[in-house]
Amino acid sequence: MSRTVIAWAATSPHELEPMTIERREPDENDVSIDIKFAGICHSDLHTVKGEWAKTEYPLVPGHEISGIVTSIGRNVRKFKIGDRVGVGCMVNSCRTCHNCTEGEEQYCLKGPVWTYNTRDPKEGKITQGGYSQHIVVDQSYVLRIPDGIALDVAAPLLCAGITVYSPLKHWGIGPGKKIGVIGLGGLGHMAVKIGKALGAEVTVFSQTLSKKDLGLKMGADHYYATGDPSVLRGLKRSLDLIINTVSATIPVTLYLSVLRRDGTLVEVGMPPEPLSIVPFALASQRVGVYGSNIGGIRETQEMLDFCGDKNVFPVIETIPASYINEAYERMMKSQVQFRFVIDISSMESRPRL
Ligand code: NAP
Ligand code: ZN
Ligand code: ZN
Repeated sequence: MSRTVIAWAATSPHELEPMTIERREPDENDVSIDIKFAGICHSDLHTVKGEWAKTEYPLVPGHEISGIVTSIGRNVRKFKIGDRVGVGCMVNSCRTCHNCTEGEEQYCLKGPVWTYNTRDPKEGKITQGGYSQHIVVDQSYVLRIPDGIALDVAAPLLCAGITVYSPLKHWGIGPGKKIGVIGLGGLGHMAVKIGKALGAEVTVFSQTLSKKDLGLKMGADHYYATGDPSVLRGLKRSLDLIINTVSATIPVTLYLSVLRRDGTLVEVGMPPEPLSIVPFALASQRVGVYGSNIGGIRETQEMLDFCGDKNVFPVIETIPASYINEAYERMMKSQVQFRFVIDISSMESRPRL
């Protein structure tokens, strides 16, 4: 039998409110999860605002999910009742294309089934995400949360953590490498922490110096305000890789002068407007601009285990569901330190009428 659960949904680009949604009856491969915490990613906000592709309202956002397994289908071998688990941005993919078979399901050639705002071929309806009490997910897209990671800080790792871990690993960041991180928000602060844990020297570029002490405390070696143009001139040709986590369009061409020959700028921020790049800035030192999209399931598990081993956790502000709209307002003003995480136990047992 399907199950009715409380969720917070956007009914328009302007507001989220409590309502009930139906979760499917678990099948033989499914894991049923009581959600304990859900992180708020800026992608939730882009989607709620309808800034990307079409948004289907009502929409329950949330793809940084941590919780406890409450039941399993008869074919489930990976999990048992009571396990601490996570769900990230994907809940399924075709499993047969070249990218899926290589463990890069996020690049599924048929398009992954995203955790929300995607038509799920299995159910024939639009997926609804983690700002809710419960979710049912195929075992192949569920992650195990290591014992050393509390469930509240585990949640943001499922998107913010893997989104920065994957490109840092892909481009071989480790001891002796120097990286830059643009934007000290949810993704940015995880890039600092994971970059340091991998052994790199980390430079932060933030709009102001207001978070400098916090940035240095979490491990950054250098911290600059981007408002001052002399900063980038002074750093000419010093970094191996820059990861741009900014949710708005910024003049990325300016940062290419900071990269060494063959250096890489990885765009993970996803503003809806195009970026402008001057070809000379690419050609003069053969630098590259790439994008990167979360990470595959196998790599997400690797990242969780890495963060558990190295004690790399996000800095969170835990909020009740009733604070979601205010949290969105603060996120739009870059007033987050550094990830909002919704305590799902705060969801009323009966939604307001
Ligand atoms: P966030 O917590 O809101 O952080 C974004 C940061 O960007 C802010 O804290 C701010 O840092 C900086 N910023 C914001 N507006 C700016 C502006 N107008 N000019 C300059 N800097 C500005 O957001 P997030 O959750 O980290 O997500 C960041 C972006 O990554 C979003 O676009 C999101 O959709 C995208 N994303 C992509 C992936 C992927 O797989 N590629 C996954 C998750 C998220 P300072 O205050 O330090 O300046
Ligand atoms: Zn996200
Ligand atoms: Zn595929």
